[in-house]
Amino acid sequence: MTTTDTQVMKETSSAGENHSTIIQPDTLSQHSRISGGSSSPSQEGSVPSSPSSKSNKVGDSSVVLDMPPTARKPLVTKRKRVLIVGSGASGTAAAYALGKHPDKFDVQVWEKLSLPGGVATSEHIEGPGDLVINDGVQGGCPTYRNTLNLMSEFGFSGSPVHMMISFGKGPTAWTNYTKTDLIDRLKDEIKRFGRTLKIINKLEFFFIFIPISKVLKWFGYSDAFCYEMVFPLTALFFGTGNQTPNVSAAIVARVFLDDDLRLFDYDPECLLSQTPEMFAFPKLRDMYQTIMRKMETQYHANRAVASVIRRNGKVHVVDDADNEEVFDEIIFACDAETVLRVLKQPSYLEKKALGNVRYYNDVTLTHEDDEYMEKHYELHKDVDQYFIRTDPNDRSKLEMSFNLSNYQPHLKDTGRNIYQTIFLDDKIKDIWTIDEIDKSKVRFTRWWRQFSHTWKHFAFTVPLWRYVQGTKHTWYCGSYTLINTHEIGIISGFAAACRLGASYPFIEDKLAREQFEQYLLMIHGKPRRYGCNGATFLSILFAPLMFIFVGLALFVQFIMRCCGKDV
Ligand SMILES: Cc1cc2nc3c(=O)[nH]c(=O)nc-3n(C[C@H](O)[C@H](O)[C@H](O)COP(=O)(O)OP(=O)(O)OC[C@H]3O[C@@H](n4cnc5c(N)ncnc54)[C@H](O)[C@@H]3O)c2cc1C
Repeated sequence: MTTTDTQVMKETSSAGENHSTIIQPDTLSQHSRISGGSSSPSQEGSVPSSPSSKSNKVGDSSVVLDMPPTARKPLVTKRKRVLIVGSGASGTAAAYALGKHPDKFDVQVWEKLSLPGGVATSEHIEGPGDLVINDGVQGGCPTYRNTLNLMSEFGFSGSPVHMMISFGKGPTAWTNYTKTDLIDRLKDEIKRFGRTLKIINKLEFFFIFIPISKVLKWFGYSDAFCYEMVFPLTALFFGTGNQTPNVSAAIVARVFLDDDLRLFDYDPECLLSQTPEMFAFPKLRDMYQTIMRKMETQYHANRAVASVIRRNGKVHVVDDADNEEVFDEIIFACDAETVLRVLKQPSYLEKKALGNVRYYNDVTLTHEDDEYMEKHYELHKDVDQYFIRTDPNDRSKLEMSFNLSNYQPHLKDTGRNIYQTIFLDDKIKDIWTIDEIDKSKVRFTRWWRQFSHTWKHFAFTVPLWRYVQGTKHTWYCGSYTLINTHEIGIISGFAAACRLGASYPFIEDKLAREQFEQYLLMIHGKPRRYGCNGATFLSILFAPLMFIFVGLALFVQFIMRCCGKDV
């Protein structure tokens, strides 16, 4: 971190939380600073509130004039005013890509909370060592090229860790680094599973709409293999929680077979026999604050979008303090439920696509209760990062824990084992064992609202995005558009920005670019570049097929609803 960074960080730490606050771009100037305003004691990391951010009515240019001299741009009349709603991974990525074209775009980011990062949060944990931990998002695999490139642009990098997982307990225990009785018992099915994965992978277009539980049943796998091995593994990798049996079979096959995204090699003897290299994120709060501050965009913290009306080719946006501004384009980088709440007169397809995203309430307890961990998991204290077990009474239900001290490098030498246990879906909280965690050892509790990406997500939501992107100057990004990973969040933000005319920032990185292009094709139905290339060909080929598919999907959904089925 540079001296300038540290200074700004200090300035930000005594700031107000209850007011809309604005961070101006931190240009390379040593004198750059956050624009003024009242400050009151509050949460670390928030920034002084700017009077301009509240009084900034339609056409008011005070925000730009507030900028430090080095950050002022020559007056360009035709810059598009773009609002990005939300500053999680996707909103940040969109802001970054658009911010690279200050001559074309005048970008604002409005964020409901006092800090950027969305679900990528950090928390202070009391006790010896005075620790800051990442309490939700932890890391990714080396194929997260877009995330890693973005981090490196701002001087951040991931720390390598080897993934060590402890599944189950007692007779159902297994790991990815030792042989256990369960592996021995299920060795025939493990061997057969390789062939099944290949079939699924070859017929991906069909299997994307079939839940993995069905496919495993069709192929005659035992409950033990499904519930103790395949489902926990999938839940862990994709954060699919209790919806895992309904996850698309094609997605599960990709965990093992996709050349670019593969995390584990399939091992015919043990299922997993590797401790693949992952990376742990640096302190996410510092990372997101630095990125947001250094970009060519205006960042308004504590400013929630309350309503959005699209009329006469413009987007009229009202914030939670009743101030209205007018933009040329809007990028929603918040959750689908919020979009549906604030967007007035959504189109039929917007209502369908957004309304089809299913969310669940989960809670994580960060704690230091060794006894709880020993009771419920096979605890290898010094090595495991991940723990996952199935409920003995209902094997379709899962609970996951983490030993953050084996994951986040700065926690390793503290002599503390800081665990985190996540209880999934509050609709089934009667089966949670949350009360068994010693309250005096709980350091922090946080609720999350997470979407599920079951096969229904791929059948009824994902195919619709291409038809709603750009409707009345409105764009959608966020991991909920495809899969719940940080990398998809970042790629989705770049995609929205590129559709508006920004260039894709990591063109030199083949894997990053290819993943971006795949997303763009799938979610926007567009190639990155029109011309004589495979992506253009696929976009043309798939256009009528997708049209037919979406028609069928809407019809099936209608019939299922009429029959009282939850879709
Ligand atoms: C507990 C947890 C752990 C995870 N762990 C990992 C992991 O280890 N690795 C991995 O790859 N992925 C992980 N993920 C998934 C991944 O990190 C997320 O999918 C991704 O970060 C989401 O980014 P996003 O921009 O789509 O949404 P979000 O991060 O949810 O951002 C949305 C933003 O919109 C803001 N907002 C909402 N309403 C409004 C409004 N009205 N006005 C203005 N702003 C608004 C919100 O405050 C928020 O900042 C995890 C997710 C969770 C929840």
